[in-house]
Order: sequence, then structure tokens, then C-alpha cells
Amino acid sequence: MSLFELRRTDHPTPEVERAAIVADPVFGKFYADHMAVADYTEGLGWRDARIIPTGQWQLHPAAAVFHYGQEIFEGLKAYRHADSSVWLFRPERNARRFISSAERLEMAPFPEELFLASLDELVALEQEWVPQPDGERSLYLRPFEIADEPYLGVREAKNYRYGLIASPVGAYYPAPVKLWITPNYTRAAPGGTGTAKCGGNYAASLAAANEAAAHGCGQVLYLDGAEHRWLEECGTMNFMMVTNDDQLVTPALGSILDGVTRDSLLTLAPEHGLTPVERPISIDELRDGVASGRVAETFACGTAAVITPIVGFNSPEHGAQAVGNGEPGPRTRELRAHLLDIQFGRAEDRHGWLRRVV
Ligand SMILES: *Cc1c(COP(=O)(O)O)cnc(C)c1O
Repeated sequence: MSLFELRRTDHPTPEVERAAIVADPVFGKFYADHMAVADYTEGLGWRDARIIPTGQWQLHPAAAVFHYGQEIFEGLKAYRHADSSVWLFRPERNARRFISSAERLEMAPFPEELFLASLDELVALEQEWVPQPDGERSLYLRPFEIADEPYLGVREAKNYRYGLIASPVGAYYPAPVKLWITPNYTRAAPGGTGTAKCGGNYAASLAAANEAAAHGCGQVLYLDGAEHRWLEECGTMNFMMVTNDDQLVTPALGSILDGVTRDSLLTLAPEHGLTPVERPISIDELRDGVASGRVAETFACGTAAVITPIVGFNSPEHGAQAVGNGEPGPRTRELRAHLLDIQFGRAEDRHGWLRRVV
């Protein structure tokens, strides 16, 4: 039984055109023909769950999202396996994180059952938009929620809208990056919104990202907001390091985002002879460890690139430093390949992480 009522487009993308897009996707440029939408009204709850043609939304200019930023989102992918079946990876975790993000921003939580149904039903309908698996191609899924009540008073809104759009994504061969340890910006403070996946965090990160680029770095490494001493995460990814005594160490949860990729890699670590460790890491420990060789490899992780190798650091106080020989390390490559193999059905799914859609 479907929870989303289907209203089909009269103008689907012509098959030849779609095939060309899906064969060589450009991230975030092309969208599947349909999207899932639902509306929330105080007192009535979530209703009118529907799958409709992807198109423009009309919002009143006083809609709360435009003024006070009540917006949250998620990101996950649908993977095609060699037998043509289509799967999601741990979508229940995205569903639960979406609820906790909503709670932090005083938004109406979108029920897990509806969240999963929107993914299942949209991906099943748009299965032709899921690329063939070669070259790590997949269908990127972007659930999000906004406050659409037209009201300029400052309080949580009474009306919300949920949306789910889908965009094919290409081979994301992550170029190794250097991280800029910014002296000027922090990402999150104790009691702040660091644990919520909200657009406002991203708006606030752009200045730091541009500062990093101006210093020849591909990403920012944020330190904590209170002491400016403890590693937090990169702008959009969690941070991990491999030590020379076989530990996979990552900052403990607190003001960072609880990444699905982070959790999955910690779970896989023992299969690679690594002990997973979640604890505070100071910038001094990182710097001394990289200098002495105790920190053998560093990388960032998240759904988009799975793992992005980090081959160096740069900071105004301490200058540039390379990790190891400046090349992606063997553990970094092995872990990345392992997770991709599970997602694309080439390795055994021992933890029951995959959810079949088609
Ligand atoms: C989404 C996100 C991540 C990665 O989470 P995944 O669930 O692994 O994709 C890490 N940090 C931030 C700030 C994020 O927004």
C-alpha cells in the first residue's frame, strides 16, 4: 500500500535525454521527473502526502523559512547492484536524524514511517534514474523540511512542508585534500546546532570554506568553540585518523554531526585490524602525531564521497604539515573500498545495512 498519492507528470524527460544524463551525471544539476511532498498544519498533523511532478513551489514572502531559517535536510543515495536491483543504505538512521534535527529547531518531526515510504516510493517510481553501478554512480536523495507559515513574529512556525528530490550523481573520485585549521571561525558551540543537519550551519560555513580555499586547502578543519583546542569535523564531513598502533580514532559525539558513514566505518574497523576509538583529540596531539608518524593516515568521511583522504594541514600559527608521504594511505583506501563494496552489493552485508527498494 502506498502512503504517497501519485500524480504523474504529463511531460517526463524523453528516454534518450534521461539515458544521457544518467550515463554521465553532473552533481545537483538534473532532477528526476517527480518529487515527494507532504504538508504539516498545527492541529491536523502531516497530510496530503503525494508524489507530484518536480517543479516550482509557491511560498508567501513572509514564510518563516525565508526569515528565521527553520530548515533541515538529509542526504543519502540509492545504489544499483549488478543484478539491477536497487538499494538504500541505512535509511532508518537518516530518518531518526531528521527527527532529532527537527526537534532541535522546534520543527514538526516527520514520522520515520513516512520518511522511509517517501524514499521507497519515489525511488521505485524513478528507478530508471538510478545509474548503472560502474564508476560509483548512484541516485542522490535529498529529503528536506521548511517552515512555510507566513508570519513574521519570532516563534516556531505552525506549518511545515516536507520535500524529497532525487538527482543522479557521478563517480566521485575524491581528490586528496589539505585541511585549513581556521583561526577565525567555529562551526558549533556547546548547546548550539552542531548536531542538527540544518541549512544555517552550511550558510555559516561558507566564509571559512573560502578562507580555506584562499590558503590552498580544499576543506576546513574546525576546532571546538570553547577552547579552540579540540578537533571537531570538516565542513561537511566527519574526521578520522589511523594511528601506527592500529587504532581508528575519531572525535567523540557532542557538538559534531552523528554521521552514518562515521558510524559505519567505526563498525567495520575491526575487520581491518583496527580498534575503533571515539574520544576528544586535541590539535596538539594531531600536530605532534603527524610530525612523529604516530598518526599514519587521516581522512574525512560522509555520504557524498564516502572517504576523502587528507594529506596535509595548514594553519597560520603552525604552517603547513604533510601526513605521511602526502599520498592516501592503505587503510584509507581499504576502508573506502569496503564500504562501497557493501553499498553496491559486491561484499557481504553482515550488519543488515541495506534496504531493498526495487
Ligand atoms: C551530513 C554531514 C556529515 C556526514 O554525515 P553522513 O551521514 O555520513 O553523510 C558530516 N558532517 C556534517 C556537518 C554533515 O552535515
